[in-house]
Amino acid sequence: MGGNGHDREQTAFCARNAVSRMAVVGIPPTPENFLVWFCYFADQPPSLKAEVDRLVEGGRKIDAAFSAEIHQRFFKAEATEVVEASETVDALLARLMERVSAQARGAEAYGGALADAESALKGGDIGGIVSRLVEETHRMASLNRDMQAHLKAAGSEIDGLRRSLGEAREQAETDGLTGIANRKRFDQTIRDATHTAAADDEPLTLLMVDIDHFKRFNDTHGHQVGDQVLRLVARTLTDCVRQGDLPARYGGEEFAVVLPKTAIPVARPIAERIRTTLAARKIVRRNTGEGLGGITISIGAALFHPGETPAALIARADSALYAAKRTGRNRLVVEGEGTA
Ligand code: GH3
Ligand code: MG
Ligand code: MG
Repeated sequence: MGGNGHDREQTAFCARNAVSRMAVVGIPPTPENFLVWFCYFADQPPSLKAEVDRLVEGGRKIDAAFSAEIHQRFFKAEATEVVEASETVDALLARLMERVSAQARGAEAYGGALADAESALKGGDIGGIVSRLVEETHRMASLNRDMQAHLKAAGSEIDGLRRSLGEAREQAETDGLTGIANRKRFDQTIRDATHTAAADDEPLTLLMVDIDHFKRFNDTHGHQVGDQVLRLVARTLTDCVRQGDLPARYGGEEFAVVLPKTAIPVARPIAERIRTTLAARKIVRRNTGEGLGGITISIGAALFHPGETPAALIARADSALYAAKRTGRNRLVVEGEGTA
């Protein structure tokens, strides 16, 4: 029971410190500024606090511009630490949010009880004591109303903050060109998937996908049409996989698909469907309608060996991919099955 209570106290402590620090130095209490100072007092990520302390020791004045600069550096979508930071902060904020609404409910009930007591007292005739009590009751009620308004505002501000943190995290893990998972999300997913597969003794298959002769396609038709092809491949991968599978842009014109709980006999038709679906598509230049022919991909598949690292699994899928390239392209090769 201690851990949770302690966390909650710690969260409230950081939130109070953040609010009073902003008030003292005259920084507007926007969600962005709140986030910076909340994280500063929560020491999450530690590099934020270290950086703020370093700049302040170096003579920087703490003001709105300073706060904006820290926010920009630590919480913009491209910041490398945004994912880790927002996970922790999200959890802290969820707890703070709980506390805020519990307090608001308590305050409301207290306000109601005071109002009842007030009307009961007004009915009697007990002289000056009663009027002082009534006065006091009014004062308490007004304090309570203020507190409720304050908590409500803080609550919705924190709600907005959590939403934008979620969006930033989503953005940090999405490939800008194709809209599917990026390398960062892939790395995380393959790490989790190998752990789960080993722990649950379930199969796991990885596909590595590479566009055939893409350099030539780019050289012939231009990079913009090339980008259109990358989006087409991403869409095809998304359309052909099942819920729970993860298609990702691995880098450049290479893609990867993580297929959890999937052995080769099930992975093979999925990979073949991806390959044949794409081969059947016609590429058309958007502005002129000119047909540019088709595009094909090569696919390497590897089944996870319990105990191996994600890097080893990727390397085996990659060597199957190169075997597919070597043996003519527009084909699927399963690692270990031999292609000679
Ligand atoms: P192979 O069949 O052996 O895979 O040949 P390839 O030409 O596809 O392979 P290579 O590695 O020689 O060339 C990859 C090309 O992918 C080169 C590069 O111009 C293109 N490419 C990588 N990233 C992008 C991108 O974001 N947009 C576009 N349009 N092209 C890209
Ligand atoms: Mg390549
Ligand atoms: Mg290629």
